[in-house]
Amino acid sequence: MLDLTIMRCRKMLLNRQGAVMIIIAVAFVAIVGFCSLVVDIGNLLLTRQKLSNSVDAAALAGANIMGEKFAEANVKDYAIAAAEEYIRENEWEIVTAGHLGKAMAVAFSDTKKVELDISVSEDHREITVRGNTQVKHFLATVLGISESTVSAAATARVDPATSVTGVVPVGIPAETFDQPDFGFGKECVLKLPAQDGNQGGWRSFLGSGNCGLLDPGSTGQGSSRDIDEEERNGHGSDEWREDFINGYNKEISKGDLIATIQGNRNGPVKAAVEARLNQCTHSPKCSISRYENNCPRVIIVPVYEKGEEKGNHVINVRTVGFAKFLLIDYSEDLDEHGNIESSSIKGWFLEGSIEGDPDPTSSTISEYGTYVVYLSK
Ligand SMILES: [Zn+2]
Repeated sequence: MLDLTIMRCRKMLLNRQGAVMIIIAVAFVAIVGFCSLVVDIGNLLLTRQKLSNSVDAAALAGANIMGEKFAEANVKDYAIAAAEEYIRENEWEIVTAGHLGKAMAVAFSDTKKVELDISVSEDHREITVRGNTQVKHFLATVLGISESTVSAAATARVDPATSVTGVVPVGIPAETFDQPDFGFGKECVLKLPAQDGNQGGWRSFLGSGNCGLLDPGSTGQGSSRDIDEEERNGHGSDEWREDFINGYNKEISKGDLIATIQGNRNGPVKAAVEARLNQCTHSPKCSISRYENNCPRVIIVPVYEKGEEKGNHVINVRTVGFAKFLLIDYSEDLDEHGNIESSSIKGWFLEGSIEGDPDPTSSTISEYGTYVVYLSK
């Protein structure tokens, strides 16, 4: 009787042990399966993100080159080469279509092969980069799916700017760019000595006493920050200096009127230019041989045509575009008594991309040396 009970108990115990083993085994498979699923999905998403980032950057690199070399015959080849170079730098191996082969790696983000399809529009203003790659699966392999294709595409454009935030309150007449002595990479004077106001060439453009200083907060027509001309010319030096150091904080668009300011404002000009020059934290300091685009020494100046005139003064100018200028120096001319007679802002006009809203309807890619590069799709 006792033996029988012991045997039953042992049998039950063994049955229970067996059941527990089965539960553990099932749970183990489920856990492994779940982990594999997480790994598969994670791997897929990571690869898609990496490919997406790479084609975005490649398209932007291609569009940037199209802006830089828009006048050259083989601009399309340059753009494609730049995009491909960017893909390689991001640790992709470019293969021709149909040669992706088997996905080798099971690791998350190490180098994979990518099929690229790069197209450039007829007008050389738009570049589209499409990429395909393959991702190996853990769990899906059990289900007969060992890998799947991940795709990403990006389109970037290059157009001139139609609006820019952060221009400085000193501009340049559009006709400057047509002068025989003008050139990118040549030293230029941005602000004019007042006594040159009546001299020939573009220096007489704004009339007597006008040195090229602007008040972007005013149209010269009596609105917003606009006060009467006398008051604007007598006051607002602090505003002018702040607008120069930080860039005017509102958007200026092509077609906008900007009020002119009479006089030299030597003090504010000196303080503002020196502040920008000192804000360069790059080593060596930015110069024409090497500069960073985002440096405070690089300023965006409105390019203008003559606006309205009152008496012999041009009271405002009309914005027609935007130029990029590298600040190099502030200089002063002294009169015979040692007083400051006039001051100048010296530097170079630069060619290259700027931040701003693009104008896809413009007939040219680059206006006054500048253009906007952006992802359009
Ligand atoms: Zn710098």
